[in-house]
Parts: sequence; C-alpha cells; structure tokens
Amino acid sequence: MRFKSLKGIHDILPPDIHIWQHIEGTARDVFRSYGYREIRLPVIESTDLFIRSIGETSDIVEKEMYTFLDKGGRSVTLRPEGTASFVRAYIEHHLYNEPPPQRYYYMGPMFRYERPQAGRYRQFYQIGAEAMGVDDPRMDAELISLLSEILRTVGLEGLRFEITSIGCKVCRPAFREALKGFLSDKIGGFCADCQRRYDKNPLRILDCKVPQCIEMRKGSPHTIEFLCNGCREHFERLRSYLDLLHIPYTVNPELVRGLDYYTRTAFEVTTDLLGSQNAVAAGGRYDALVEEFGGPSTPGLGFAIGMERIVSLLKDGFKVAEVPELVICFVGDEAAERAFLLAQELRLKGLWVETGYGDASLKSQMRRANRLGARYTIVIGEDELRSGSVDLKDMGSGEKTTVSLDAEAIAGELRKGR
Ligand SMILES: [Zn+2]
Ligand SMILES: [Zn+2]
Repeated sequence: MRFKSLKGIHDILPPDIHIWQHIEGTARDVFRSYGYREIRLPVIESTDLFIRSIGETSDIVEKEMYTFLDKGGRSVTLRPEGTASFVRAYIEHHLYNEPPPQRYYYMGPMFRYERPQAGRYRQFYQIGAEAMGVDDPRMDAELISLLSEILRTVGLEGLRFEITSIGCKVCRPAFREALKGFLSDKIGGFCADCQRRYDKNPLRILDCKVPQCIEMRKGSPHTIEFLCNGCREHFERLRSYLDLLHIPYTVNPELVRGLDYYTRTAFEVTTDLLGSQNAVAAGGRYDALVEEFGGPSTPGLGFAIGMERIVSLLKDGFKVAEVPELVICFVGDEAAERAFLLAQELRLKGLWVETGYGDASLKSQMRRANRLGARYTIVIGEDELRSGSVDLKDMGSGEKTTVSLDAEAIAGELRKGR
C-alpha cells in the first residue's frame, strides 16, 4: 500500500458515521432549545493566538501544537482547541454588541501532536459551546444542564459531573504561594518541565501528566481552599442552582484545567467505562480572556465534548446500520432498463433504492441484496413486464405482496412496512 493516513489520524467510515450523525443531530436540537447558534471557525490561526490564550507553559503549547511556517513566513498553528478561535472571532466581529448572553456552538476537528494511544488521536473532534456576557452563576448551571441534556439525549448513562472553583486573579496569588510552599522542598524530584514551571507558572505543575509528578504532587493545596469572597459566593450559588435543576454532581477539588485562561467554575464529565482517558467533556469559566485579547471586559464560559470518546461509548448500542429499502433485480435487457428507471423514480421519492449494473446474473444480484441487508427486493422479468405487477419480498419474513409495477404503488407499500 503506497499511502496511509498519518500516525494518530483516522478515517471515519460507515457504519460508524451514523453514530457521529446521531450525536451531532441530537446536539443541534438541544443547542437550539437553549438558544445556541452555530459558528464555524477556521482550523488554522496565527500561533500567537494559542500561546497568548492557552499559556506558553501549558503542555499543549509546549509540546502538542501543529505549528509551522506558511509560505509567507508566518507562524501558523492547527487549532488545538476551540475557545481561543471563538474568542478571537467574538472580538473581531464585535459579537459582544448583541444582547447578552451571546451563545454559540461549534463542531469540528482539533489537532494535538500527542503520543498516539488507545482513544487518543492527533486529529480529534469536539463539539463546543460558549456563553458570553453573563457572570451570574445561573449561566454556569444552565451550561452544565445543557451539557447534561446533550449527553443524556444521545443515550449516555452513568456519567459523573465533577465541579470545582479555581478562583480568580484576586485569590490566585495566595494559592500560588501556598502551592509553591508545598512544592519548594520536592521540586527537584519533578520532571524538567515542572522544574521550569515552578517559577514561571507553578499552577501548570498540577496538570503535568508525567507519573512521577502526579505521585509527588499528592497532598498539594487546592484552589477551593483559597477562594476570595466573590469566588466562594459564586461557587455556592452555582451549587444551589444545580440542586434546583436536579443535576447530580460531586465537588472534586483536584480538578484543574490545562489551560491558563480559566477562572472560577471548572467542571468535567467522567465515566468509568473508558479507562484512564475517562473525561468525555470538560469546561469552565474564562472571565478575563476577552479583555486579555483586547476586547471589552466580558465574562464567558464554555465546554467541549470529545466526540471519539462518546462514539466509543455508544458503539455497542448502534449495531444496526442503515440499509437500502429496496433492491430491484432484473432478468433481461428490457427489464434492466425498467429497473434502472424505477430506481430513479423511487429515489426521487426519498427512498434508498439499489439496482444492478452490467449483466450480473439474478443469483449474484440476490447475493448483493443479501449482503446489503436490503429490507425488500423485487425481481423484474418477462412475466412482470407483461402483467404489470411484481412480488415485493420482505427479506426479513420472506413474505411476498403483489403490487403493481409502478413507483407510486411500490413506494406506498414500502412506507407501510416501515
Ligand atoms: Zn476569587
Ligand atoms: Zn512534570
């Protein structure tokens, strides 16, 4: 084989594609009832955008970005996540002038140069949502309920919602100092990246994936213990609204976000069914990001759902692929022509109809109908052409119904059987 897809990059083929379409279609419906509108963002942006938003000491920026020079010598990057692009577009098109909350969603591929392993891809797909302009914790609760509703409607069960507050620029300095104090006499045992982060951005040490760092940071202080009054009140109110909406959750003080721009609310949805890659969705608040990007001070929050993980959770429940409603078989040239025309007429009525090509034998046409899993078949031969009627065979039950050899009559019979 001469060409193969790149390492960690996969094709999505039928019969999986209908799971993807099911998830996307369901998400669109739920988004609509919550007032979210779709926005389509480019997959490529200037590299600075991600460095400024995600943070230069984050794992994503330090190790995982697809960054290269374009032919004009500009450094560009395939987007590793959606929020930075979204906020760039939000400011560029003055979307903040619309009455808040401004709510948007997007779906599409993201790119991270990670070590390929089960369930991890270098091109992976996300469904993301962003809600702008409201700092009221009711918005956080609404966003979490939206996420919960999408996951429930697509058919996922047994998910855990974990939340915490990671504070704001008022309370973060105290946390940062406490964390540095905790790490000060152990930092020599951490990986080289963490040692470098200790002075530049010690918070990033909390999401280092190196096993020795995970082990050594056990018992470190939590942001939730250092919240200022504003953050504490915000978090308490969020919890009361989640209770009001009957959304079960647990507080997980260990939760961190691998991106610098998050403030206050952070959350993750996890499952035990995926092994160590157990998060299916994650999100949080980013009240300072719009202003940092040069826009007017605007609170915002959002989430991203990992498509591949949801697809793998749903896969077992989706064994039934779509099948043709009718395969038209024929014997002889005249019947072949009649079959060809009939297939066209039925397709114009919105039915999935297959017929043969070339001069395949009846036996091989029937074999193909079986392989496709067709719901019904008909065979047109000299008798059928003469009598103007044909036997519609239900391939499941073997039952035959005689109908007139005419698109209207056949379509009516196929629709009855649905
Ligand atoms: Zn605070
Ligand atoms: Zn480390």
